[in-house]
Amino acid sequence: MSSDKECPVRRGFSLAFWRKKKKPPPTQTKITDRVTDCGEASVLLTANGAPVAEKKASLTVGPRGPILLQDFVYLDEMSHFNRERIPERVVHAKGAGAFGYFEVTHDISKYSKAKVFSSIGKRTPIAIRCSTVGGESGSADTVRDPRGFAVKFYTEEGIWDLVGNNTPIFFIKDPLFFPSFIHTQKRNPATHLKDADMFWDFISLRPETTHQVMFLFGDRGIPDGYRHMNGYGSHTFKLVNSKNEIVYCKFHYKTNQGIKNLLAEKAGELSASDPDYSIRDLYNAIAKGQNPSYTFYIQVMTVEQAKTLKWNPFDLTKIWPHKEYPLIPVGKLVLDRNPENYFADVEQLAFDPAHMVPGIEPSPDKMLQGRLFAYGDTHRHRLGPNHLQLPVNCPYKAISTMHYQRDGHMPIHNHGGAPNYFPNSFSGPKECPAARSPSFPVSGDVDRYDPQDEDDFGQATIFWKKVLDEPARERLVQNMVGSLRNASTFIVERAVRNFARVDVELAQRLTDGLRKSGIHINALGKSANL
Ligand code: NDP
Repeated sequence: MSSDKECPVRRGFSLAFWRKKKKPPPTQTKITDRVTDCGEASVLLTANGAPVAEKKASLTVGPRGPILLQDFVYLDEMSHFNRERIPERVVHAKGAGAFGYFEVTHDISKYSKAKVFSSIGKRTPIAIRCSTVGGESGSADTVRDPRGFAVKFYTEEGIWDLVGNNTPIFFIKDPLFFPSFIHTQKRNPATHLKDADMFWDFISLRPETTHQVMFLFGDRGIPDGYRHMNGYGSHTFKLVNSKNEIVYCKFHYKTNQGIKNLLAEKAGELSASDPDYSIRDLYNAIAKGQNPSYTFYIQVMTVEQAKTLKWNPFDLTKIWPHKEYPLIPVGKLVLDRNPENYFADVEQLAFDPAHMVPGIEPSPDKMLQGRLFAYGDTHRHRLGPNHLQLPVNCPYKAISTMHYQRDGHMPIHNHGGAPNYFPNSFSGPKECPAARSPSFPVSGDVDRYDPQDEDDFGQATIFWKKVLDEPARERLVQNMVGSLRNASTFIVERAVRNFARVDVELAQRLTDGLRKSGIHINALGKSANL
């Protein structure tokens, strides 16, 4: 299939498509044709398609009731209403979505054979979702939290989901910690309150979090909406070219609107006065035709360079230095269309880092490997096993969506009478040898490795000393003091000892700031080692 209109799943559901074609949706045509007694106006129906004669009153015995069980109009309405909510995302529950395109501006075919990059000027439809991470779906947009920035590319080779954030790094490097880490961002199981002890206890016990914690409490910890922040694929990926040569890669998509952040005080005000600030900002910008855009880059590292890098190139708590691995321009992401129906277009929009296309592959990055499982698993729980048939998720640009998966809840497109086993002699879909990934070696003893010897502080030191200017350093200190002061003293002392390993001056300034706010700690008199 080559366009929206040919998608078998979309055909029946996309109002936008039918509006563009200047025809009513097919269901409406049929309805007015059928219910001739009610003329040409669209007619209210029950879910099973029967006309509703009276919607203003339930069916009762006399004007004062009771209601009859045979009132199907009421039962139909109420029983569906009772089931309107699907499970909220455990993380990234609050978000904004938009649609647009990715356009190639520079040729990177020497690195990747992915058709999404195949020629300059080529456009691929995209959907994006930007989100906060820790809060519930009704929480305020302007909290200090990383932001999700996921991009779905509807390519002719299938869906490529780049499930990124607004930071190039993350708190942890082993996915086994993910549920625990997220629990510390959520609510205390006893009090149902956010809990500074939970947060700082975990953070200070796992010093690999230090780099990302410094980004979080820095200015970029509260972006001014989703138009003014960067996106990063964050993980290390592998690119494969047409000769099956590989390089490792990182993806960056930098805002063309310029980075803008909110100061803590302003963000606090907005949390009360306009908790949906970021969703509103993105929606209104697109509605006004301002069409936010982001320039798309890659960083590239050869296999040989990866072996000699000072840091583990697959460690998600580290960046690749720009000077050694410069940004290579690739294209731009442009957002030019708002969702028409939030639930269908955003709440059901399901990203999965395991959705890759030939030419883009996973690296050994442990966090990426963990996410390759986690996202599909959660979507199967939230949306069901056939969520990839939903209009917003279906790979409608792919040549076909032919496979041997069948049945399960809500199989909208169940492949009719086509064979449901492989191999078969009845023209079922065949393998595509050209899509084969090059083999790669792995070695090492099977064990559970907790890499205590990796440097968890060196890049945080560069960030503190070289990237931030003095006013930004002071804001970082004040933001951290504002949070640390709510935690127990022994936890604060452990956290400050960790920050002493970034820079003693940082730890001293935290100690002084805490003292000014009435919290006296004795972290620096003790050993810096935990
Ligand atoms: P560079 O000077 O080349 O890069 C510094 C980068 O820091 C900038 O390009 C910018 O990333 C990012 N940055 C600037 N201000 C902030 C902030 N307040 N919060 C978070 N990030 C910010 O040096 P290196 O590449 O050698 O990196 C030095 C340090 O900069 C790293 O250790 C890391 O802490 C930090 N950093 C680096 C990034 C990278 O991809 N190289 C990205 C983010 C942070 P951008 O251009 O993507 O906006």
